[in-house]
Amino acid sequence: MCHPNPQNESRDKNMASYADFYRQSMDQPEAFWTEQAKLIDWHKPFTRVCNYDKPPFAHWYEGGQTNLCHNAVDRHLKDRADQAALIYVSSETGVEKTYSFKELHVEVQRMAASLLAMGVVKGDRVLIYMPMIAEAAFAMLACARLGAIHCVVFGGFASGSLASRIDDATPKVIISADAGSRGGKVVAYKPLLDEAIKLSTHKPDAVLLVDRQLAPMHLVAGRDLLWSTLRAKYMAAQVHCVWLDSTDISYTIYTSGTTGKPKGVQRDTGGYAVALAASMKHIFDGRAGETYFSTSDIGWVVGHSYIVYGPLIAGMATIMYEGLPTQGMDGQPNGAIWWSLVEKYKVTAMFSAPTAVRVLRKQDPALLKKNDLSSLRALFLAGEPLDEPTGRWISEGLNVPIIDNYWQTESGWPIITIANGVEKKASKFGSPGVPMYGYRVKILHESTGEELTQPNEKGVVVIDGPTPPGFMQTIWKDDARFVNTYWKSVPGKMVYSTFDWGIRDEDGYFFILGRTDDVINVAGHRLGTREIEESISGHAGVAEVAVVGVADALKGQVAMAFVVPKESAVLDDAAASLKLEGDIMKRVDGDLGAVARPSRVRFVSALPKTRSGKLLRRAIQAVCEGRDAGDLTTMDDPAALQQIRDRVAAK
Ligand code: ATP
Ligand code: MG
Repeated sequence: MCHPNPQNESRDKNMASYADFYRQSMDQPEAFWTEQAKLIDWHKPFTRVCNYDKPPFAHWYEGGQTNLCHNAVDRHLKDRADQAALIYVSSETGVEKTYSFKELHVEVQRMAASLLAMGVVKGDRVLIYMPMIAEAAFAMLACARLGAIHCVVFGGFASGSLASRIDDATPKVIISADAGSRGGKVVAYKPLLDEAIKLSTHKPDAVLLVDRQLAPMHLVAGRDLLWSTLRAKYMAAQVHCVWLDSTDISYTIYTSGTTGKPKGVQRDTGGYAVALAASMKHIFDGRAGETYFSTSDIGWVVGHSYIVYGPLIAGMATIMYEGLPTQGMDGQPNGAIWWSLVEKYKVTAMFSAPTAVRVLRKQDPALLKKNDLSSLRALFLAGEPLDEPTGRWISEGLNVPIIDNYWQTESGWPIITIANGVEKKASKFGSPGVPMYGYRVKILHESTGEELTQPNEKGVVVIDGPTPPGFMQTIWKDDARFVNTYWKSVPGKMVYSTFDWGIRDEDGYFFILGRTDDVINVAGHRLGTREIEESISGHAGVAEVAVVGVADALKGQVAMAFVVPKESAVLDDAAASLKLEGDIMKRVDGDLGAVARPSRVRFVSALPKTRSGKLLRRAIQAVCEGRDAGDLTTMDDPAALQQIRDRVAAK
């Protein structure tokens, strides 16, 4: 190997401040990223740091060869073979098991040998449709080991969504399980998978199944194989890592589908490994030998970067948790389960989402105080705007710094946050922070493309190329869609659009105001839905809120609010709803002015969300405007959208 593992070097010895660190990444990107590349092992050194000859395609570390699985597993065998690597905890089944790096290495080789036996070679696609079980991580790492491209599809997606992903990825093999479980309810995956394969045009050669004994499974002869059989056959298998070019594809993953049809994001190998290693050190301040806990799912990018690859590359133990945030290992309600895991495994960095915190916020706040959380240095939250009341509630309840992260499936790692490992700067509530090293983030005027440099000017958040290591390479099999979707939306400029709307304040902190298509234009005033939601969520009677713009003959658009009240009694009490509606309107008047006041506030028991927990504003908006709600394949609970329909119809 060319470089030693520098995890234990004194940290950031030459860095006076984050501002200097960031400036170096902008002014001397080659030197900066050459330095970061030392955080991983290279089989062959790279010859060119970044090839940006054909914008917007950035090729990182050309000429170099490496392997994600080697960096996540094998390279730690020398120093930490017996140390915990994967800590699997399921409050659905009561299973709790720790795999050391050595044990993980063995399991991954068994899985890799099984894949080899099924004919999988470098460049083949393997679709992983699995619940949160340790075998899912083995499967991802085994693919990385062989240079096979994994395509993880969130477990429990309906057959139609799965079928379209099978046709897009054209996998040689699909890895799945008999069932997942959610809140104690078994969701049989195998029938969904069988139906999806029936619906898809492409057919896999083989299906590998983990039998958790949660649901009966019918095996298709000649196609379906059991992991238990192959695992036993390859008990002592030794499968070496296939060295990949840095620019070889590691995986594809779909975006959440909040704004429409999901996009198949394609990621490289070397750039991604470096980006993750660097982010573990500079952003998450995670150190080898410690424990990291991300509550996400492997079906999302956070699960790829910060359940599986990032922590392991950093030599940390990673907790993989199956279950709700509110249930104990005995299956009984327990709103402190996560905090008890933090205490038990001495978690130093934790990563979750505002949507999960809002679930916890409905519980007794005393649950945040039950456990010893002294190991925890910070809680990172990402995926959606973190409203101030939610941020304050969790921060005060846990007495731990809360760090909001803004990023996307496309970026693979945070774009805007606080680099906690470089300089422990204070966060500002409502702001994820400042641009991360490597990201030249700008705010542009939506229609003129002019750069907005004055504080608090609203515009589209864009990234000037080249995008940093770890960022998406392209859309899988569709370079033209990649260029046209992301790089051509601002007139006259080739910049990457995040399609999010934001401002930068006097101190350089960014505030994300919502998606560009969520901007409401009321009688010529442009308002982000986020601003109105932020104001409404500050009302003590509000648990959750969604604001959408609805076409209005007179004003162009008006804001419409849907609120989940803290007290569910409000839902059935006309007088109480009317009072709360009036109070909320007054609050918005006071915070933002009458122009932002929603024309109606309607109360519901739940809001429609994607499976990843994001508000489906476009679906709410379509319902309010009497249009078809569009692609709803990623929606979690159809009943929530039906409730909105009923409320709107009731006037
Ligand atoms: P699709 O692109 O398919 O419509 P999606 O954008 O929801 O789905 P993701 O990549 O999972 O898919 O989500 C990224 C988006 O989530 C960002 O563009 C932004 O709108 C929102 N987001 C993520 N983190 C934050 C945050 N910390 N603050 C505000 N918004 C955030
Ligand atoms: Mg998106």
